[in-house]
Amino acid sequence: MRDAFPGLANLSPVGDIVHTAFNTLTTDNPNEIYPRTSYDVPEGELHIPTLSRIVRPLENVVDVDYFMPGCPPESHQIAAVIDLVIKVVKGEAELPPKGSVIGCGDSTVCDECPRARNVKFIKEFKRIQDIAPVDPNLCLLEQGIPCNGPATRSGCNARCPQAGAQCIGCYGPADGVMDYGARLITAFSSVIDANTPEEIEHILDGIPDPTGQVYRFNLAGSLLKANREAWKIKG
Ligand code: SF4
Repeated sequence: MRDAFPGLANLSPVGDIVHTAFNTLTTDNPNEIYPRTSYDVPEGELHIPTLSRIVRPLENVVDVDYFMPGCPPESHQIAAVIDLVIKVVKGEAELPPKGSVIGCGDSTVCDECPRARNVKFIKEFKRIQDIAPVDPNLCLLEQGIPCNGPATRSGCNARCPQAGAQCIGCYGPADGVMDYGARLITAFSSVIDANTPEEIEHILDGIPDPTGQVYRFNLAGSLLKANREAWKIKG
């Protein structure tokens, strides 16, 4: 997985995150003990790395040969990758170029989704549980349910939308998507029935947790990477 929920830590200063982790209602920490970067033990002094100010995508830290997206990757995609490796070992195939995204498709989840699109415009966004009944054949986005299919890489056979749940984007950005969140906001805006920018903004404001919606798996790899708060040194 290239980047996942931990990337949303880039919305808060690292000190706040540590403080929250060790001070929630469910955390029994009466003596306010926090992780330390050094600790004296009989054998000497232990040094523990400090947390980075912001979360970075894996490829910004280590040299990655191949990316295999999905949370988790589909079993048929894992099988396809293993088949390819076997063929390479036998000399029957060549490895893809280093850095390739493998075990997935090269278009979007929408391209694999059987739901009808370009049928309706919407006046508001809603949580899926607030819509009853959900039309089983119509695009979820065109029913006002924020679905991440338009920006998400294909390869899962649109499993979630086919089962009646919106795509949350676990396969990451599709080919050619420079910023996943920006592409999604563009896609969401394209189904809005509104006449003024203010009206569009008002309808977009109806998306519950917009940052979590469009950057759940991608904030650290986005163009913005983090908000201003996260860059602050605190704690
Ligand atoms: S937005 Fe979602 S429901 Fe609509 S076509 Fe794309 S994947 Fe399917």
